[in-house]
Amino acid sequence: MTDTSHDVIIIGGGINGAGIARDCALRGIKTLLIEKHDFAKGASGNNTGMIHGGIRYLRYDVGTTRSACTDSGYIQKIAGHLLHRVPFLFPVKKKDFGGKFLLEGAEIFFEAYDRFQPLKNGKTHTRLTREEALELEPGLSPDILGAVTLDEWAVDFYRLNVENAVDAKLAGAQVRNYCEFTKFIQDSKNQVAGIEFYDHVNKRHEEHTAKWVINATGAWGASISKQTNKPYRLRPGKGTHVVYPHRISNYGLIMKAIDGRQMFFLPHGQETIIGTTDDDYYGDLDNIPILEDEIRYVIESARSIFPSIDKYEPHNSYVGLRPTLYEWGKNEYALSREHLILNHHNNLFSIMGGKLASYRELAEEVTDILAEKLDVKTPCQTHTRILPGFHPEAETEEVCMCEGISKEDLTYSIHNEICSRLSDLRGRTHLGKGTCGGVHCLNRASQIFAQEKKLSCEQQLQELKHMQDVCLSERSSVLDGANLAREELGHLLRHFN
Ligand SMILES: Cc1cc2nc3c(=O)[nH]c(=O)nc-3n(C[C@H](O)[C@H](O)[C@H](O)COP(=O)(O)OP(=O)(O)OC[C@H]3O[C@@H](n4cnc5c(N)ncnc54)[C@H](O)[C@@H]3O)c2cc1C
Repeated sequence: MTDTSHDVIIIGGGINGAGIARDCALRGIKTLLIEKHDFAKGASGNNTGMIHGGIRYLRYDVGTTRSACTDSGYIQKIAGHLLHRVPFLFPVKKKDFGGKFLLEGAEIFFEAYDRFQPLKNGKTHTRLTREEALELEPGLSPDILGAVTLDEWAVDFYRLNVENAVDAKLAGAQVRNYCEFTKFIQDSKNQVAGIEFYDHVNKRHEEHTAKWVINATGAWGASISKQTNKPYRLRPGKGTHVVYPHRISNYGLIMKAIDGRQMFFLPHGQETIIGTTDDDYYGDLDNIPILEDEIRYVIESARSIFPSIDKYEPHNSYVGLRPTLYEWGKNEYALSREHLILNHHNNLFSIMGGKLASYRELAEEVTDILAEKLDVKTPCQTHTRILPGFHPEAETEEVCMCEGISKEDLTYSIHNEICSRLSDLRGRTHLGKGTCGGVHCLNRASQIFAQEKKLSCEQQLQELKHMQDVCLSERSSVLDGANLAREELGHLLRHFN
């Protein structure tokens, strides 16, 4: 029998929901976390993946830069196995507005940021001449005046989210993916007393009660808030990234897009991620299209500073929605990335906005409020307790050559990481994300998944088709011509055979 009475229910298994669930569970608060898809399906699995120190706040809010750097340092301690250093170049082109002054200005700005670098084990900046920059990064446009270096960190954001959810479970929380919130339950005094949700795996509705409910549904939060006494607005910002299957630069690049916005060119794991666009989005939150002109915008922007990009072909793209706070009249990219904890004053809180890099701090802030209300004295441990990593005992059979994924990696994830569908392995292990796009590994992986989950042949085939569709949906927007025709034919054959 499932326990249906909790201290806290958290709706939304993105990084913020999972982070809050982890903090609550570690303090002994009886917690339920539900997510309607797999974890990291929203912004938390579709971002640039930078655990940065908040350099942009330096212009107007030094305190935020200090706390972002401190928290980035904590995340390095608890998730060292998921982070990697990204040394960036900030190249300035001769024709950039301000030219030489921009280079001087960038150096002064980065010098101010240097004071905070020790908090996150970052290195101080260096000024590079044109020749030095081109020697380090030969793919750069020869049309540069010079560059300044900046040291930041990137993370495997999908696993950061999943490992927070897994650790919440290890600490005693009930953690359930594929469970979709449908409505709040209210008591006779109009206080929120729990929620009803639909379990897509077991195909049933459930009612659970709690003393406190947290709406941590990111960009979806505004629509859920229509059921509350304080509906709110967000301005979801659509961000599309283009992915190359290899590292195509030696360094990360902070660059200007063709319209002057800031963009990143980021060696990430075995891949290169370029992005992001930043556009207001008013469409279906569950079905965000990636448009051809967005892909062109990203690639053209990258080409203007890194012409060598034309030697390579992208193999994937992905899109996410920033749960940005609503402001009228501002350009999308100028909107605040801060978070807000909205108290509905009826046992319900909503989380609005926020950043991946400050999820832990946000979770601590929310859990402090809940702990006080529940009279829980156990202190926060999320800045010292290491996240559960990836610990296969023996490596025997390699399933994916591109990403080096073994049978043990898959079985570990299936049994220990709240993995319900074959496609959940995509983010957890990178299955199907390598250069072959899953051609060489998905059949074998689906057999292993079916064996471990005791599925029938028919169920195995369904899981395989679903996974192939997920891989195709990320690939199709960067394919054209014969490659796209071949992929679409494969898709048709899968579904009509
Ligand atoms: C393109 C892009 C780039 C970014 N880059 C960075 C970066 O480099 N560094 C950084 O610090 N931040 C970055 N961010 C911001 C960061 O990713 C987000 O602020 C953060 O991931 C928000 O997390 P969240 O948990 O609030 O929302 P989400 O991750 O969106 O999670 C909300 C979850 O709620 C679930 N949900 C919705 N409705 C229901 C329901 N009815 N029932 C149950 N569950 C439901 C969704 O499925 C989703 O999983 C970026 C964001 C984007 C979009």
